[in-house]
Amino acid sequence: MNTTVTQPRAVERLIAGQPTSDGAGVKLTRVLTQDLQRRLDPFLMLDAFGSDSADDYIAGFPDHPHRGFETVTYMLAGRMRHRDSAGHEGLLQSGGVQWMTAGRGVIHSELPEQSEGRMEGFQLWLNLPAKDKMNAPWYRDIQSADVPEWRGAGVLARVIAGATHGVQGAVQRDGTEPLYLDLHLDAGASFEQPLPAAHNAFVHVYRGAVQIGEQAVPMQRMAILRNGGDGVRLAAGSDGARAILIAGQPLEEPIVQYGPFVMNTQQEIRTAIEDVRAGRFGRLD
Ligand code: MN
Repeated sequence: MNTTVTQPRAVERLIAGQPTSDGAGVKLTRVLTQDLQRRLDPFLMLDAFGSDSADDYIAGFPDHPHRGFETVTYMLAGRMRHRDSAGHEGLLQSGGVQWMTAGRGVIHSELPEQSEGRMEGFQLWLNLPAKDKMNAPWYRDIQSADVPEWRGAGVLARVIAGATHGVQGAVQRDGTEPLYLDLHLDAGASFEQPLPAAHNAFVHVYRGAVQIGEQAVPMQRMAILRNGGDGVRLAAGSDGARAILIAGQPLEEPIVQYGPFVMNTQQEIRTAIEDVRAGRFGRLD
């Protein structure tokens, strides 16, 4: 793919997200909410969490099920222990990524392994194509040192999924073709990323501010990028910036969500609930 962007996308909308809590009472901001699932297909949810106060995170996310999609957790700071009913266990630490394909179903827990200090990061939900929703669960922990990186003038791009400037990311996926970059920009630095015109894309700024075309995107805002053109170009303000850039190929299939289950029909949701009740998701030992 050509790495020169000549027709950059503009910002369609800025989104502030909804403060909420989930799990056993973890405070977070739901940046990508359910009403945006169709617009940002194949992405179903993006939660941002960040606190220096243990009260906001200490309860964690005890045993709960998932079916029909993938969860991608990216830690900026802190330590979180994952265990699931498929027998996977891992410690997610600052700068690392946990990629879990729930597929036909897992029960897992995500619990802080610290009682003080900062906990910060993101959890993204990525849909699975209908044909893959009942695949076997899959899980991978990617430690910070193993996240591929690309460096340009004043730019560090951490490549969680997809590829940038010839650097292949930690995870690749057919079907949804996700791109997930964590961009660290020095003051005044700029970054370009080619994007297929039909892929849905958004930028979430978590430090400083960026400029995308005519639009300033401040900290803690998500910019939904208009489709079309050949990519995105963003420039950091005078304080530099950090932002995640996420894009993917829409599935254009029905989306039916009930809590931690995302399927294509109501009947499939009823089946998921019955399967959990009957113990068919397995259990955490
Ligand atoms: Mn979970």
